[in-house]
Amino acid sequence: MTGHNLAERRKTVRKMVDGANGSDRIEILLPVSNEMLTRDIIDISQTGLSFMAPVGESYFLPGTPLPGIAIVNQGSKLNHSTATVKHVYRIQTPAGGDSYKVGIQFGANGGTKVDRFVINFELSPDQKNLRDRVRDFTQKEIVPVAAQHDRTGEFPWDVIRKAFDLGLFTIYIPKKYGGGGLGVLETAILTEELAAGCVGITTSIMINVLGTAPLLIAGTEEQKEQFLIPYCRQLTLASFCFTEPDAGSDPSRISTRAELKGDHYILNGVKHFITNGGVADYYVVFATIDKSLGTKGLTAFLTPSKTAGIKIGKALDKMGQRASNTAEIFFEDVKVPVENRIGAEGEGYKIALQSISKSRINVAAGSVGIARTAMEHAIRHVHKRVQFNQPLANFQYVHFRLADMATQIDAARLMAWRAAWAHDQGRRYAKESSMAKDFNGDVVMKVTSEALDLLGGYGYSKDYPMEKLMRDAKLMQIYEGPSPIHKTIIYRELAKEYGF
Ligand SMILES: Cc1cc2nc3c(=O)[nH]c(=O)nc-3n(C[C@H](O)[C@H](O)[C@H](O)COP(=O)(O)OP(=O)(O)OC[C@H]3O[C@@H](n4cnc5c(N)ncnc54)[C@H](O)[C@@H]3O)c2cc1C
Repeated sequence: MTGHNLAERRKTVRKMVDGANGSDRIEILLPVSNEMLTRDIIDISQTGLSFMAPVGESYFLPGTPLPGIAIVNQGSKLNHSTATVKHVYRIQTPAGGDSYKVGIQFGANGGTKVDRFVINFELSPDQKNLRDRVRDFTQKEIVPVAAQHDRTGEFPWDVIRKAFDLGLFTIYIPKKYGGGGLGVLETAILTEELAAGCVGITTSIMINVLGTAPLLIAGTEEQKEQFLIPYCRQLTLASFCFTEPDAGSDPSRISTRAELKGDHYILNGVKHFITNGGVADYYVVFATIDKSLGTKGLTAFLTPSKTAGIKIGKALDKMGQRASNTAEIFFEDVKVPVENRIGAEGEGYKIALQSISKSRINVAAGSVGIARTAMEHAIRHVHKRVQFNQPLANFQYVHFRLADMATQIDAARLMAWRAAWAHDQGRRYAKESSMAKDFNGDVVMKVTSEALDLLGGYGYSKDYPMEKLMRDAKLMQIYEGPSPIHKTIIYRELAKEYGF
């Protein structure tokens, strides 16, 4: 927006602000006079927008630990929970004066990290602090018990409770429901750290991000308050029930039925391969209201696991990630009140796609954690192991293999972080999320295999942690969609970008 008349400018900005809702993004081209600049802060309140936007600096939203904007007028429609400055950058006007372009985003993603005109690969002090705390937790609480849970397949309740107490289950839930209010980037950072200790335990924790995503994406305010406030107060496990024995990559085959009877739906069907299925308090169940509609019939229901008619089948005896519980669930005439439907009838597929797209970023970050640990084991081993009268670490071929591992791990981390960043910025992120999930799944398989190779026979032995890492890694290529699904999404997004 440009304009020379102040009153006119105010009117236009006010109209844009009032008209904005949901995740609308508006950009305002704002001529800024010298008087409006005070020590690197543009006070643009004269324009009718009541906030202060930093130039080249991150600010903290009142009441949140995230960089955002400082809002000076609480009476304004722009309040801290619904709006954030996305970027502020200086442009030269044709007349030679300075103007500032301010991007503002409204809606659920308001309050996440402020982006400016530079790419910055450095974590903020808060993010580093989070990473270090979770790294410490992993070393103290996960590493000592990882092998035992892998051996027994026993669910890691003790670690789960401690992780909840540390806030790891609720870090991504908005503050107004009692969560940490952080973004997917922070969730990815913590996932990498947990997975560096044991990705099976990590899956048991992070599946809650997927289990709560449908509610966060499509729930009503009432549903969110009813579920998320208690969720943040006491340990609650939420599972995502999508896959069925006959419906894996192809969701149009989902046949769990939802029949409307008065003020209830009646669910009948079977879900399988459900993470935490045997231990969860809540399920988000995707069922069809009419199978002939294909994916357009899918509808999501929040269902307490103790509801009559729900039976848990046997847990999957898995090759890896054995600390996580994966179960079959039977639904037989399960009554779910209409109020528990998430979104409208037929919106389930869209909700599931959005939820998985978000959660896949954590899977991508988890792959980085496993790969990092595998490389670190290999580094330690090649420095200790002597062959041909010298440590293996002296051989150039070993250097090259470690260099390749490090390069792939770095690339994988950047892929995960970029997808998280795009999400937190309110940008399109489906392509980035699928790229990261697919690429990182291959990286972790390759790195764990290479690292195991560098340990020789020791790598293949159950007395060393390496073979577990490789077994655990395989699942990163399978759950939350195998490779063809991601390549299909990437190609679809590419077609949109290039118009073919
Ligand atoms: C331990 C574990 C935990 C899980 N947790 C959950 C959970 O919490 N919730 C949930 O809903 N699901 C969960 N799943 C299910 C998981 O998401 C599916 O296993 C996955 O999506 C693949 O489906 P599928 O196993 O039926 O394989 P299929 O879809 O049958 O695929 C088999 C093979 O065919 C290939 N393929 C599929 N489609 C194509 C195509 N179009 N072109 C070429 N090749 C193709 C695949 O790449 C794969 O190699 C879990 C699975 C496991 C193993």
